[in-house]
Amino acid sequence: MGNSITLKSAAEIEIMRQANQIVGDTLSMIGKKVRPGVTTWQLDRWAEEFSRARGSVPAFKGYRGFPGSLCVSLNEQVVHGIPSKKVVLKEGDIVSIDFGVKYKGFFGDAAVTVPVGEINSRKGDLVKVTREALYKGIKQAKAGNRINDISRAVQIHVEKNGFSIVRDYVGHGIGAALHEPPEIPNYSRKKRTPRLLAGMVLAIEPMVNIGTSDVRVLKDKWTVVTADRTASAHFEHSILITEGEAEILSRTSNPN
Ligand code: MG
Repeated sequence: MGNSITLKSAAEIEIMRQANQIVGDTLSMIGKKVRPGVTTWQLDRWAEEFSRARGSVPAFKGYRGFPGSLCVSLNEQVVHGIPSKKVVLKEGDIVSIDFGVKYKGFFGDAAVTVPVGEINSRKGDLVKVTREALYKGIKQAKAGNRINDISRAVQIHVEKNGFSIVRDYVGHGIGAALHEPPEIPNYSRKKRTPRLLAGMVLAIEPMVNIGTSDVRVLKDKWTVVTADRTASAHFEHSILITEGEAEILSRTSNPN
């Protein structure tokens, strides 16, 4: 891939719109299925069937050996949770669902965090602030700004609300590869970061914790959890940079 940020042609952008709409529609469908008693394996099956029926292929399945189509991460799990018949959603959980597809040679990628039934107010605030932080970042994502303008906006919103930013995992460019340059951290850096140009497609994805920003990887080699086991939330959109406001490619139909 090299280090340069690809600019997409009009035809490529149209395919990426379609790829990401499949992702957004899948997440909308899965969001409505979330309720106590459902296993994360069942969510994974529904997502794969739905997205394949739309002509796409799940992007995460087999990626570096990942076994599922969805990453499903509950409560203290940050990202990369493995769908399982043994993991049953229960009232009060929050579940982060990350999904990607490949469609006509291009990728779509997005994530939402969904409450299972009634959740406590602290978790409710976490989910709300994480979603808001994503949109603060998207607001800065326009031609002429720099990557760091996105990063800073996300960080400020999260930290002023008393939560912490995961630093070990970051957003990314997306296109003919699932992960393309540039990296998009959710915290500000002192170094000079790339300038945004119309035609770039970026996946912005804040991961936000109630407690420490430190994370660990479980023995399954995938599941990332908070070091102090407090809850974590994750939202992600793939967006197109334009001269004006970014176009969100992975829109969902629910408030997520
Ligand atoms: Mg991503």
